Amino acid sequence: MGDPIASLELFPLRIPRETPYLGPLEPGVRVSERGYFIRPTNQTVYSIHDHTVLVKITTEAGMVGWGESFGVVAPEAVALIARDLLTPLVLGRDPHDVVAIAEDIYSAMRVRGFYGGFYVDALAGVDIALWDLRGKLTGLPVCKLLGAQRRARIPAYVSGLPKATVGERAQLAKEWVDRGFHAVKFAAAVAHEGELAEMQAIRAAVGPGPQILVDLHWQYTDQEAIKLISALEAYDLAVAEAPVQSEDLEGQARVAAAVKTPVAIGEELRTVFEYRPRFVHRCMSIIQPEMAHMGVTQFWQVCQLARAFHCRVMPHATIGVGIAQAASLHVSAALSNLAMHEYQHSIFDRNLQFITGDMRCEAGYFELPSGPGLGVEPRETVLQYLMPGK
Ligand code: MG
Repeated sequence: MGDPIASLELFPLRIPRETPYLGPLEPGVRVSERGYFIRPTNQTVYSIHDHTVLVKITTEAGMVGWGESFGVVAPEAVALIARDLLTPLVLGRDPHDVVAIAEDIYSAMRVRGFYGGFYVDALAGVDIALWDLRGKLTGLPVCKLLGAQRRARIPAYVSGLPKATVGERAQLAKEWVDRGFHAVKFAAAVAHEGELAEMQAIRAAVGPGPQILVDLHWQYTDQEAIKLISALEAYDLAVAEAPVQSEDLEGQARVAAAVKTPVAIGEELRTVFEYRPRFVHRCMSIIQPEMAHMGVTQFWQVCQLARAFHCRVMPHATIGVGIAQAASLHVSAALSNLAMHEYQHSIFDRNLQFITGDMRCEAGYFELPSGPGLGVEPRETVLQYLMPGK
């Protein structure tokens, strides 16, 4: 074997931010001692901080690969699982066996029913780090390792308009369009005057050309979602995301069949096994894989499954310092069924200071980072945000 894996290190991070993700806190919302709060509209827990988990894998020859796991809440749980449980599964193995390693890690907890959640999140960061390592060992970018660099620029849509009023949010959408972006998504969870009012205001602000997407945040029954999406279609809705609760496959399928707008789902799913029944039941026409939940191996496999079901891919972008994002762009560069990639501007741009490389998002496009592997690495400065005691 060439250069076996010698160590696995985990870095759970807490990065302060001024305005919480998705916008200012609603009146009366209580923040816990640990910084968590519930958005009253979609009943989902968020943090007032940005959290993520970095993964560093080093080979015996000293070559380093970096990965990043989903860690929006309880990042220490992900780090602990990876440190304690995954270390013995990867030490001594050849990074070029990354697909086998990912499959073996997944299988190791099957009998206990860990098909997703924090366990697979931990796996995702390890998998990304191994693909980065493979790239560095071969001198090739990850998209070339996948065998298909189709593009160096990835079309981006602006995600989220973190302002307090509908007027300010519509104005922000207009500003992004003026900067060369052709697609903007608003979030139902913070559309306090209602989705229809939000849609009307944004359409009036941006004019007839740009695409407007809505994230419905799993809030509706199938009938409610069909009615709402049909009403939004009068303002030329481009994509309806997550209309009904994640477990409601029949509802998802009914919505997807009943509306003219493409339905997108999948940011919360982690494996081909979770996606498979949604493809079979035609729950969506666009998938939204999240790299920090999946890793390159699963992400690529799910995108190939999407091809078989004639679905397009619109990758999700979570909170992170940019390592998982770079991996997501590399796979996006290789896809024949890519629609566009989410651009979380309030996170992505600020966090460029924490990574090396030339990854950017400007005038409607991400620039794929150049160089071998992912083309990005964390800078030392980001480790100042390491969670206490780690
Ligand atoms: Mg979403």
